[in-house]
Amino acid sequence: MHQINYHQYNDGILPVSTLNNAVIEWLSNVSIELNEMLQSEITYNKFNGVVNFRCRESHIDIENDLPYINTRSTVILSENYNQLLWCISYFICSSFDETLEYMDAKINGKPCNPNTFIIKKSMSVFEAGLSLINEYNKEIFFKLPNPEKYSNDNQLDIEKTNSVYCAGISFIILHEFAHHYYGHITYCPSVDISKKEEFDADDFAIEYLLSKCTTLDSISSQKVGVIAVLISLFFCHKTDISGGDTHPDLDDRLYNYLGKLNDNDDSIYAIVIYMLLIWMKKNNIDYSSMKKCNPSWKEFCISFCDCIKQYKLHNL
Ligand SMILES: [Zn+2]
Repeated sequence: MHQINYHQYNDGILPVSTLNNAVIEWLSNVSIELNEMLQSEITYNKFNGVVNFRCRESHIDIENDLPYINTRSTVILSENYNQLLWCISYFICSSFDETLEYMDAKINGKPCNPNTFIIKKSMSVFEAGLSLINEYNKEIFFKLPNPEKYSNDNQLDIEKTNSVYCAGISFIILHEFAHHYYGHITYCPSVDISKKEEFDADDFAIEYLLSKCTTLDSISSQKVGVIAVLISLFFCHKTDISGGDTHPDLDDRLYNYLGKLNDNDDSIYAIVIYMLLIWMKKNNIDYSSMKKCNPSWKEFCISFCDCIKQYKLHNL
């Protein structure tokens, strides 16, 4: 049974809207306990259980188009942001092996012969997603690999991407649901309390999502889906990763999440470093002082996060 309903004003404009139903389905399969909790909040605690998929033919306005929950406990998601998240998920899924090989070669000075066709294709989808931060050109999404219409050649990548995307949106919905569950939307908190509430909402969502993974299941959709969401926020906020008066800084949220992964999730850390390197490059943030000096991606990632802390200290 579906506890969550969704509203959509029309069929959607961008290809990602074809997955709205799949997202709600995916969420309903997270766990029996979660479904019971959602149902009980709807029955006894005024959770209206509605996710609103909005679409606006416009670039992503970070004040209005990033996900949130309103005071009537409706989760609001915007199609333009969802499309960006799908594109980032595609980039990660379709170039995962190439990325790892590239990172390994770059760090260890090994030769690397990446499959340039795969990298170019993944990169063009990623760039199309990023274009939504500044402009709105809907045609491009239908010309590139997308979840609405695709060929057999792309099927595997699209399916992996859809799963990561659904996990990412489920993470978002659970984060927003947690704000309702913990009573955060009923009052105006102080700066410190507000930031703590954001971590609590992240932790709630992460705990429910990761409870579905087995320990051997390292590159699971759930784990990568959360990464895709947290990384997407870096790109949306460009150089300003400070959370201001309401949210924790973006790197602190990422760091909080990474701290909950297992040691056998090492390749996920390589993906995080790679995505952050692209973000730094695009925003002219200096990363030249970064050197891999540790044996694992996890340790390297921790030192990389320290480098971002230094950037914040000197620039924000
Ligand atoms: Zn929040």
